[in-house]
Amino acid sequence: MSKVINKNLMLNKKIGIVSLGCPKNTSDTEYMMGLMDKAGYEITFDTDEANICLVNTCSFIADARKESVRTIVELAELGKEIVIAGCMATHFKDELLKEIPEARAIIGTNNILEIVDILDKISSDSDIRISAVSEKPYEFSYDSLPRIFSNIGSSAYLKIAEGCNHTCSFCIIPMLRGKFRSRSLESLVNEAKQLVESGIKEIILISQDSSFYGLDLYGKMALPQLLNELNEIDGLEWIRIMYFYPSEVNVPLLKTINKLAKVVKYVDIPLQHSHNDILKAMVRPLNPEATINLIREHIEDVKIRSTFIVGFPGEKQHHYEHLLDFVNTQQFNRLGVFTYSQELEVPSGSMTDQISSKIKKQRQKEIMLCQKSISYELNNSLIGKNIKVLIENYDEAKNVYTGRSQWDAPQVDGLVYFKNNNDLSLSLGEFANVNITQVTHYDLIGNAI
Ligand code: SF4
Repeated sequence: MSKVINKNLMLNKKIGIVSLGCPKNTSDTEYMMGLMDKAGYEITFDTDEANICLVNTCSFIADARKESVRTIVELAELGKEIVIAGCMATHFKDELLKEIPEARAIIGTNNILEIVDILDKISSDSDIRISAVSEKPYEFSYDSLPRIFSNIGSSAYLKIAEGCNHTCSFCIIPMLRGKFRSRSLESLVNEAKQLVESGIKEIILISQDSSFYGLDLYGKMALPQLLNELNEIDGLEWIRIMYFYPSEVNVPLLKTINKLAKVVKYVDIPLQHSHNDILKAMVRPLNPEATINLIREHIEDVKIRSTFIVGFPGEKQHHYEHLLDFVNTQQFNRLGVFTYSQELEVPSGSMTDQISSKIKKQRQKEIMLCQKSISYELNNSLIGKNIKVLIENYDEAKNVYTGRSQWDAPQVDGLVYFKNNNDLSLSLGEFANVNITQVTHYDLIGNAI
């Protein structure tokens, strides 16, 4: 009898990990993995090897929820016991435990630090099912939490804040993640130093709204100060900021980005639409063109990434054409276009004049086609140039290295594929100087020099 119990406990000590959704979720997963590892649990990304799997879910839009549900159902069909964490766990806390018998625990976004306690309980008593979803946002300060990285090579996400104070009429995030809470400057700089000591070359600052950083904690926007301090860290090469909120872009911040050598000249700014009628209905800042002009005026050789939503309720043909024209004129270096997803809990969910899915998809396709040729032209202008690339992969069979330039964020932007015809000494996680010889619509091809 005791042997059987021990065997089960040993099996239960191995936890399969699936992390879905955005980099903020990835960062939560990494801290949960760190905590599990410290407590003696073994982590595996091969879910076949574990009988308990942690799925950190996304609930931002319908497609993301479908992916989360599909993952959970597939694991359940394989006989796994499942711990469901993240935004969908918070969003559907009651339904998930009721409808998925294999779900042993639900962990809300405010409860991720309870992961070990919950695993201890469910792995030592097969009858227990736990729902840990608290309404109250936790105090956000990951000061000295252990962390295990997933797989973005020698880059690491650093979550600088949690939650959001805006009220975009389509967005459920503030309901799921609470109000904006900054992590202290000191703890961010400390963790960044530790990351660099462990070999990290690029730190990617993430939050729902990075340009707002510090306002809640210090009474002033403190992103410039944070950038200045990070820029001083020896061994750190690139600092990337993800998600600027348009009305918070200001000259001192842009000048700081321009001035600091380690801050990549890449601005990721979701604009969501170009037409003021739609932006008003979205409860988003107006006049995006002025914001883009300001960025281009103050950061030399900047590359801009943006995202847009098509098919927002009430988006008429002329609104859509305005957006298409805007995309054409602005020539963004990187672009994502999403179809509007109707969420009943948020104000836009009950707006009249919802747009059919066929029209939404058509509009998305047209804008992406337009962007495809823009991206190709912009890439073409890099032929013959030498660019610094962070090496992330080497395919021995093809003898090709893969990496990213400072103008490409992991997982969302393009890659640089290159050969080492000059037999240079190249290592993963280090930098190469690559001469660009060819391009595709979204990627660059070259040779290390
Ligand atoms: S800025 Fe708007 S879209 Fe972004 S997380 Fe906040 S409420 Fe959502």
